[in-house]
Amino acid sequence: MGRLRGLVHGALWLTTLGVVGLVVTVVILDGGGPPPLVAARTNPTAPMVHRIMTTFAAPHRNLMARVIPAADLPVPALLPIGVTAPEDCEAAAFAGAARVNAVSLTALIWSPFRRPETGWEIYAPSVGREIGAACGPESGRFAEALARWQTAHRLTATGVLDEAAFMIMRNRWALARPFVWLTGGGGCPPGPTEADLASALPTESYAGKAIRLTRGSLAGYRRMVAAARAEKPEIAADRRLLAILSGYRSPEADAARCVRDNNCDTVARAACSAHRTGQAVDLALDAIPGHRPDSTVDVDRLRLVRSPAYLWMIARAGDFGFVNYPFEPWHWEWTGRE
Ligand SMILES: [Zn+2]
Repeated sequence: MGRLRGLVHGALWLTTLGVVGLVVTVVILDGGGPPPLVAARTNPTAPMVHRIMTTFAAPHRNLMARVIPAADLPVPALLPIGVTAPEDCEAAAFAGAARVNAVSLTALIWSPFRRPETGWEIYAPSVGREIGAACGPESGRFAEALARWQTAHRLTATGVLDEAAFMIMRNRWALARPFVWLTGGGGCPPGPTEADLASALPTESYAGKAIRLTRGSLAGYRRMVAAARAEKPEIAADRRLLAILSGYRSPEADAARCVRDNNCDTVARAACSAHRTGQAVDLALDAIPGHRPDSTVDVDRLRLVRSPAYLWMIARAGDFGFVNYPFEPWHWEWTGRE
C-alpha cells in the first residue's frame, strides 16, 4: 500500500473550463519505479497546470511531476482500490491553514528540541501519525486532522502547526518512552541484569557489531523486522536496513564513550543514557556511503525521515511496541506493549 501510494495516484479529469484543447499528463515517479499511471485532461493554462502539479506533488514531496505531450497519453484509469487520490487531500475549509503549513514546513524558525532549527519537515511523519493524517503536511486534509487534534487537546482548532501544538505532541512522545517513565522521578534506571540481556546475531547488527538488548526488546525487534521485510520489498532488499547500530550500553561504557568521542555535551547523556535500559535501539534507516546513520546534522536527519524504513517504522513500529524519539530518527525504545 505504501509503495503504491508512492507511485500511483489515479486519474484526474478537469473539464469544467470547457476547453477540449491539449491534454496534460502528470506523471509521478518514485526513484525509477513502475511506469506512470496517472493521466489528467485539462485546460492547458499555466495556472491550471501549476494547480495540477501542486495537487499531485504536494502530499508527495519527494516525487517528481512533469508534463508530457498528449500523444503519449495512456488511457485514463480508474483509481486503484485503496489508493487515496491527491484531490482527496484537499479540504476547502482548511485551504488557508494548509498554505500556512506549507510555508512553515520549511521556513519556521524555532527550537523544538532546544537547538535552533528551520522548518518541521523532520517531524512531519511523527506529527502526521499523531494527528491521524493520511495526507501530506501541506494538504487541507492534514490541516483538518490537526484541527481535530487541537480540539481534542483543548487548543484553538486552527489547523496550523504551531509551537503550542507541537510541544504537547513532543511531551506525549516523550512520555511514551520507557526511559522517560523510568527517570520520571529524576533518578537513573538501574538497568537490566546480565540474565535479562540477550545477544543479537551478527547479521542483525550494523557491520556485525556485538549488540545486546533485553530479551523482550530483542524478541520484539525480531518480530518487527520480519514484518517490515514482509511488507516492504525495499527494506527486505537491503539487509543493512533496520540493522542495530547500538543497543544496551552499560553506564561505564557510556562514560568511556563520551570521553573517547569527546562528546560529553550533556552530563546526563554520559551518566544516564536511554541505552542503559537495554530497551533502546538505534537502527540503520538507510545505508548511504559517507553518511553516518546516526548523524544529528539536520540535512542527514531529513534524509533519514524520508527513507522507506523510517516511514514504515512510523506507521507500524508501535504495533510491535517500539516508540521513537523524533529528534533522533534512528532511536527507538521498546515499551513491552505490543
Ligand atoms: Zn539511541
